[in-house]
Amino acid sequence: MIPVTTFAGQSVALFGLGGSGLVTALALKEGGARVVACDDNPAKMAEAQARGIETADLREADWSRFSALILSPGVPLTHPEPHWSVRLAEEAGIEIVGDIELFCRERAKVAPNAPFVAITGTNGKSTTTALVAHILRQAGRDVQMGGNIGTAILSLEPPAGNGIHVVECSSFQIDLAPSLAPSIGVLLNISPDHLDRHGTMENYAAIKERLVAKAKTAVIGIDDDLSRAIAKACAARGVRVVPVSAGSTGNEGVFAEGARLFRGAPDGPIPVADLDGIHSLRGAHNAQNAAAAVAIAQALGMSEDEIRSGLRSFPGLPHRMEEIGRIGAALFINDSKATNADSTEKALKSFDNILWILGGKPKEGGIEPLRPYFPKIRKAYLIGAASDAFSETLGEGVPHERAETLDRAVAHAAQDAAALSAPAVVLLSPACASYDQYPNYEVRGDHFRELVKALPGINPTMGA
Ligand code: ADP
Repeated sequence: MIPVTTFAGQSVALFGLGGSGLVTALALKEGGARVVACDDNPAKMAEAQARGIETADLREADWSRFSALILSPGVPLTHPEPHWSVRLAEEAGIEIVGDIELFCRERAKVAPNAPFVAITGTNGKSTTTALVAHILRQAGRDVQMGGNIGTAILSLEPPAGNGIHVVECSSFQIDLAPSLAPSIGVLLNISPDHLDRHGTMENYAAIKERLVAKAKTAVIGIDDDLSRAIAKACAARGVRVVPVSAGSTGNEGVFAEGARLFRGAPDGPIPVADLDGIHSLRGAHNAQNAAAAVAIAQALGMSEDEIRSGLRSFPGLPHRMEEIGRIGAALFINDSKATNADSTEKALKSFDNILWILGGKPKEGGIEPLRPYFPKIRKAYLIGAASDAFSETLGEGVPHERAETLDRAVAHAAQDAAALSAPAVVLLSPACASYDQYPNYEVRGDHFRELVKALPGINPTMGA
């Protein structure tokens, strides 16, 4: 744990005890602050009390005694409207910050030169964070990985010496971290997302920009207009910018040509690594993630051998085009994290001859944007609430069945794959939320993995 000492002797209000909230309360208490915590969920309040945290209904509290409101990133700060605790903090004239900000202040106090890599972007954050941490660990570096990827930042070891903190940051976390100034700031890409919580695209991009604006080195994906403009603006302000791209970056930065990664140099590009055959990094989107990871690792002084070796041994993250195993020439892929058409597109782009398991709770627009990939689909297996709508979109052109459940879909797809003469891919990439049949995408993906691993003749992929 990282004791937060910057509020020692002061009282702070904390709202939101899910996820990282409880750890944050404990870290503040450990550092000498008096914390009064609150959550809408009585079970969370009870859990905090059991861990020695004072709880109260902050609606009734005397806010004049608090120095700050520590807010969970899941709680609305501005849109669709500020949470009541935000309004009370504003009325009391106190600052509103989150756990990443507490980490930044602690780092500034105890180890301002300790390497701190902060990673954001609309897509690819977790993959890039895990990949960077893996490359560094493989090379024997002392790495602490956390943030939005699932381990609360304040539960990590404190910043010290050469230990490297690799931290995934969501836009909500950045919004609550005004003094974020990482040694390496990474912005992968920006596309519309969470606009319900950020109002406009401009506001969303401005929040993402804050992660790189004060970085010593800014690694920025330049494949979309907004990120490219941010790269330009940072360079104009004197930030050292390393551009990365799944296309070209000219004579600087790191870019991909197909599966091959190059670094730009004045006399022409120099090959750095080849992603061909690395099953955890299939697809152009992962080439962007890998290019960013290479740029980060280089900025941290890693050798190209160390980087190549880390890329090659990256196991990948579960539920993101995760290879489960093979039966003969049929490959089974778990892409349960693909909860919208945009994400599923990445998978459909990456494979051919697809037996596609999809469905669940549909998102606006359904699978209409995926029509260009329909010729790659040998057959589709529909599960869950979206079946009627998706059946209509697939129409006569794409053979499909209403499997209803994942059990049936996997069984039928495996049978059909065995009957095909060409190599095929059985792909769970639902393009839907899971909530109609599962608590979340992880449970859905775990179920798929279990079903596939129980198939007769399965040859599981190492690590799956
Ligand atoms: P995040 O943490 O930002 O949600 P993940 O690394 O968990 O991102 O990947 C989630 C999904 O986003 C992947 O399954 C893939 O469909 C898509 N994706 C990953 N990386 C990228 C990228 N660089 N550009 C666009 N889409 C991506």
